Amino acid sequence: MKPNFVTEIIDEHNKNGRFKARVHTRFPPEPNGYLHIGHAKAIYLNSSIAKQYNGKFNLRFDDTNPCKEEQEYVDSIIKDVKWLGADYEDRLFYASDYFEKMYEYAAALIKKEKAYVCDLNAEEIRLSRGTLTAPGKDSPYRNRSIEENLNLFARMRSGEFPDGSKTLRAKIDMSHPNLNMRDPIMYRILHSSHHRTKDAWCIYPTYDFAHGLEDSIENITHSICTLEFENHRPLYDWFLNELGIFHPQQIEFARLNITYTVLSKRKLLALVEGNFVDGWDDPRMPTLAGLRRRGYPREAITNFCEEIGVAKFNSTIDVAVLEECVRAVLNKTAERKMAVLRPLKVTLVNYPEGKIEEFDAVNNPEDASMGTRKIFFSRELFIEQEDFRENPPKEFFRLSPGREVRLRYAYFIKCEEAVKDKEGNVVELRCTYDPLTRGGNAPDGRKVKATIHWVSAHNSFNAQVNLYDRLFNNPDPDDAAEGKDFKSNINMQSLEIINNAKLEPSLKDAAKNQRFQFERLGYFCPDIKSTEQNLVFNRISTLRDTWAKIEKKLKK
Ligand code: ATP
Ligand code: MG
Repeated sequence: MKPNFVTEIIDEHNKNGRFKARVHTRFPPEPNGYLHIGHAKAIYLNSSIAKQYNGKFNLRFDDTNPCKEEQEYVDSIIKDVKWLGADYEDRLFYASDYFEKMYEYAAALIKKEKAYVCDLNAEEIRLSRGTLTAPGKDSPYRNRSIEENLNLFARMRSGEFPDGSKTLRAKIDMSHPNLNMRDPIMYRILHSSHHRTKDAWCIYPTYDFAHGLEDSIENITHSICTLEFENHRPLYDWFLNELGIFHPQQIEFARLNITYTVLSKRKLLALVEGNFVDGWDDPRMPTLAGLRRRGYPREAITNFCEEIGVAKFNSTIDVAVLEECVRAVLNKTAERKMAVLRPLKVTLVNYPEGKIEEFDAVNNPEDASMGTRKIFFSRELFIEQEDFRENPPKEFFRLSPGREVRLRYAYFIKCEEAVKDKEGNVVELRCTYDPLTRGGNAPDGRKVKATIHWVSAHNSFNAQVNLYDRLFNNPDPDDAAEGKDFKSNINMQSLEIINNAKLEPSLKDAAKNQRFQFERLGYFCPDIKSTEQNLVFNRISTLRDTWAKIEKKLKK
């Protein structure tokens, strides 16, 4: 990563010897949902810093809350972290493996009179916490003896008490200016089965108590987290200081926000459960599974993370920056193909019946090493419906009656007649081709103002194409009308399904991980659910298309 405030802190530590020049980071997801692109930023930051300093990087599941966690999420997270190329080697850990150790640390704090069992319920604790301007009130249970506390804590563990009836609290200061320091809860009773420890435990540690211990146990040097934990750092430090154990440095950075996107597992779960999308890996989702299915290359995501950098202040990145990173990678790597999304038949009346010609088409003008392929030409072709206008407006230079255009790689053709059905829709164009323009240039030097793409009717094939667009209409999806939430900003036109696109034959063997540029249309890839019998392609992104602007004007 380019130098930033995190690397500055590390450089300083390396100079003053705080961690003996060791760098060890971690990514600690809670397995309560799929990872999104915000997590990619955290993964990239932690793993690339470790790499850059010849350090280590751990993947650790922060699975201390049994209620919302599932194995499905654990599996998906491992897959996504690997896909991003973040190398945790053999260091995959689970906070739940430390439950016994955490329990011992809690007991040690009781013995130091730094923790006590409290019988107040959640509401009572909240009410006695005070406010930013008023101090809190000491719990009546605050001065229990060490013996009584140890005894009650053991009985909490053994399952004697119902949920919510007791907590273990740190004994700090109920008038501390930082509310997080007012005797925060360390353990709560939850008779709930855990996805890994099953029913071994009915008390679970809170994030604030557990997180620093997890970092300490793993010898993490720099515990990088998002800004909302800044006010929790004094507590992070307090637990480690009181226990006198290895003490990592917590560093906070600004979380990633992107326009037209929600980045919160809770909201993404609501989209999945409300069937607004086709699961966590819907290609419109900002989850890594969704972006992967959409066809976003992982290099595009890591380039994006590198480009946006890290900062101490929250901001929102324009989603166009991400889309531009995707195009930049695909422009260099995607093979060009010809495909027609909304076909209009063209018959070349002066082209011999049954004749087939082959042309060489360039696979990628950016990279000659990607070679060429054969494309096929015949009397019957398909072009895009929108490349023809019966009554062309001023800025429209493509086909219209009497007008000549170039067919990419092939010939000039001229529209002689538009054939209509009973309702007056144009269903076919009867055109002539100029045999002297083979390859796309006229020997007499005459020019045409447009080049359009096409496929041959005789060997193109049908496929479904999903045209994905942004999932939200509003740059800030949370900016919803009174009484509504982010779901009211969902873009109902975010998916258009095209059933009978015509694709050039070489796309039949497209591999699942291959991405293509359909000339003039955008970048596309086969969907993971695509089969040989039922080919489905997803639009990864549009091109920056010069005539997209004109198109907009025409619609006005
Ligand atoms: P969410 O708010 O989406 O539920 P979270 O923070 O609860 O996310 P965790 O599983 O706790 O999700 O996050 C794991 C790590 O990813 C944390 O260190 C967290 O700070 C980081 N992270 C989560 N969201 C973002 C984001 N939008 N930008 C950068 N880092 C993030
Ligand atoms: Mg969270």
